[in-house]
Amino acid sequence: MATRIQEKIHRDEHSKLNVVIVGAGLGGLGAAIGILLAGHDVTVLEVASSIGEVGAGIQVLPNAAKVLFSWGLQKSLESCATRPRKCNFIGWKGNHLGEMDYHGYAAATGGYPFLDFHRSNLHKCLLDRAVELGANIVTGANVSSYSISEESSTTVVYLEDGRTFVTDLLVGADGINSKLREQFLGRADPPELTGDLAYRLLLSTSEMLKDPELRPFIENPQVNYWIGPDKHAVNYVLRGGKMFNMVLLVPDDIPADAGNTLKGDIPEMRAHFQDWDPRIGKMLALCDSVLKWRLCIRPGLDPTWSDPSGAFTMLGDAVHATLPYLASGAGMALEDGGVLGLCLGRLRDKSPASKQKALRIYEACRRERTKKVVQRGTYNQWIYHLPDGQEQIERDERFKKFDDFDHK
Ligand code: FAD
Repeated sequence: MATRIQEKIHRDEHSKLNVVIVGAGLGGLGAAIGILLAGHDVTVLEVASSIGEVGAGIQVLPNAAKVLFSWGLQKSLESCATRPRKCNFIGWKGNHLGEMDYHGYAAATGGYPFLDFHRSNLHKCLLDRAVELGANIVTGANVSSYSISEESSTTVVYLEDGRTFVTDLLVGADGINSKLREQFLGRADPPELTGDLAYRLLLSTSEMLKDPELRPFIENPQVNYWIGPDKHAVNYVLRGGKMFNMVLLVPDDIPADAGNTLKGDIPEMRAHFQDWDPRIGKMLALCDSVLKWRLCIRPGLDPTWSDPSGAFTMLGDAVHATLPYLASGAGMALEDGGVLGLCLGRLRDKSPASKQKALRIYEACRRERTKKVVQRGTYNQWIYHLPDGQEQIERDERFKKFDDFDHK
């Protein structure tokens, strides 16, 4: 694999945009890097008082690794990433279904690796790179609204505390509950319920290493999917084997008025898997705190997610949040930032026509791909959660084919 690292484009004032991005999540920071490399100025407005991510793991697939490496992040990422060797598919009773050789797959598809991270490490690598390239990061900045001046093709961004920012291009990277999306549409637009929720937990691996049945999951980095009726469980190691990330996907029982993220009840979580492979029970016995997340999606936004003035667009979960059943939501947000940066890299001047064209191409590159990923996430919900029976038997036959796959 020969990574082409993007060089920063040098521009004069005639073609340099002043871009404001709302949200310093993985999508917003990735876009900051892509747009800074395109030679523009970037300010990132983040509501939180400090920049960080939820304490949980994240899988980065080869397509997203390619984008990250092109931003010059290979070295910093590899210092905190775990490279899983394979992905195991396991039936809910513990029966082997199939395994996918990640190293072989990566080698056969361009050489970019599968990487697993603690989210805070991935986030910090992006933040450091954005700052190194000159990003102005403003925390405690709760954006309430914006107004576009068609005449000048600029946008004024309003914060709850009365501050304002004027920008040539506003990018909404404010996540699944995006306020900017609602203003863009001119109506309330809650994300769609999926009927599932996720328990997210991190275990220290020291106890797991003492158990001969659990030790192989730590010593032999791998991603494991246990699949069964209505539920599945995913886990993998982080930080060189020091931590173990688990996500349990089960039917959503969070009351409608209880919010989307709450502290989970450990006995209730364990009860969901009491009849499953006893190795899951052993892992869950080591858990002392858990978060519970309602899973929602946004299947995309037609006919457009950019303002015709060329002064506003969006990316990431604000547009196309997906079920995490393909481990690709953040990957899609990073790709969005990469493509937006490349489109803005071609800008010859700051005219509305040039910005409109750049945003049209950005959307044209991203629309179908992100839609397909959301659809595939929903398909995986069905396929992973099949009840025992004929369809499940046929599915399990298909998983066996991973074992036979020849990557050479
Ligand atoms: P967010 O991460 O939500 O960032 C939005 C940011 O905007 C936040 O920092 C927020 O504070 C800020 N903000 C919001 N409103 C305002 C405002 N008004 N003013 C200023 N700032 C504001 N994806 C993968 O690729 N691989 C995985 O393995 C994976 N696993 C997942 C597991 C689970 C259980 C879940 C739920 C998701 C998973 N995802 C995964 C998906 C991934 O986490 C998201 O797709 C990704 O984080 C979205 O990034 P974003 O930047 O678009 O949004």
